[in-house]
Amino acid sequence: MVSEEEEISVSSTSGSLPASKDAVINLDHGDPTMYESFWKGMGNRGDITIAGWQAISYFSDVTNLCWFLEPEFDHEIRRLHRLVGNAIADNHFVIVGTGSTQLFQAALYALSPPDTPEPLSVVSAVPYYSSYPAVTDYLRSGLYRWAGDASACKGNAYIELVCSPNNPDGSIREAVLNSENGMTIYDLAYYWPQYTPITRAEDHDIMLFTVSKTTGHAGSRVGWALVRNKDVAKRMIKFIELNSIGVSKDSQLRAAKIFKAISDGYELPNPENKYKLFNFGRQHMSMRWKKLREAVKVSGIFSLPEFQPSHCTFARERTETYPAFAWLECEKEGVEDCESFLRSHKILSRNGKHFGADRKYVRISMLDRDHTFDLFVERLSSLT
Ligand code: PMP
Repeated sequence: MVSEEEEISVSSTSGSLPASKDAVINLDHGDPTMYESFWKGMGNRGDITIAGWQAISYFSDVTNLCWFLEPEFDHEIRRLHRLVGNAIADNHFVIVGTGSTQLFQAALYALSPPDTPEPLSVVSAVPYYSSYPAVTDYLRSGLYRWAGDASACKGNAYIELVCSPNNPDGSIREAVLNSENGMTIYDLAYYWPQYTPITRAEDHDIMLFTVSKTTGHAGSRVGWALVRNKDVAKRMIKFIELNSIGVSKDSQLRAAKIFKAISDGYELPNPENKYKLFNFGRQHMSMRWKKLREAVKVSGIFSLPEFQPSHCTFARERTETYPAFAWLECEKEGVEDCESFLRSHKILSRNGKHFGADRKYVRISMLDRDHTFDLFVERLSSLT
């Protein structure tokens, strides 16, 4: 595994079946298994069959700049963005990647001048997503180098990563730097209505999305980028060609079917109102955040960020923010390291230090299965 984000520990609830009451609860990585129950309720609407002879070629559509993008997936991505209204896809190239993790690296490659004497600085405002430093530096590229907190960036040429809503703290973000030589990558993995009100259709030069956090299908390893500039798009495509000669067609066909099922749930007659992913997600997240805030109150030693409601153009009402992660601060006297404190109570979380922040903070996934989440809030409320 290349990034800390996806480091897997198997001696706990991670990826496994319901745990016993005193089991280790692993909420370190953002594994979106909460969505399993939605897809079970969808019957065969998300199923696909791929015949043995099908999808053999490396190529998907040689007339498309992104020749390894399955046309059905391209179509369903654009349809979903139109339905949700979270991003403008129509004047952008769609590039598919093996997760948005690959697209993030493709974007760094595409934005770095090939003849640069010094690696370009890659920055993001604290607290930043913990994979950014690890993924930027693991190959010690001569093109770019992790340079930490965007607010402390002194150089003129840089790439700023803007994650909004932000992993780990759920805040809505804009770029903090704004120089002529700077470039920005918008990571919009969580800009979906189950996590945050949709307030406008984003229209940036490079926007990254992932199936993992949209529908829960992290295991398919599919993400997509919306890229305005043709030359940047070409260089990103070149990176993916060199890195993996395209992206699994099987995964793209599955993702296309999954997206189709979601859009159909909203756009086709649906008298029982059953097949609406974002409604399911919002309901679950709302319940979970309520339970979490209650547990924090009962315990008395933690605090959580607060969010203001806004009008959501998708839901057509004022909605709350329910981030995919809880950014929990431990205020107990004598506790300097919240992650160790929770670990001593068999709760695995990610230490604030990985996000460029204080050890008093941890990040906790809110997207695990119901049983694991309920076990977590029960245990948290008992800590004093
Ligand atoms: N960006 C952010 C902000 C994320 O939280 C994640 C997943 N944790 C990713 C990118 C990577 O997603 P993928 O599974 O598509 O590689």
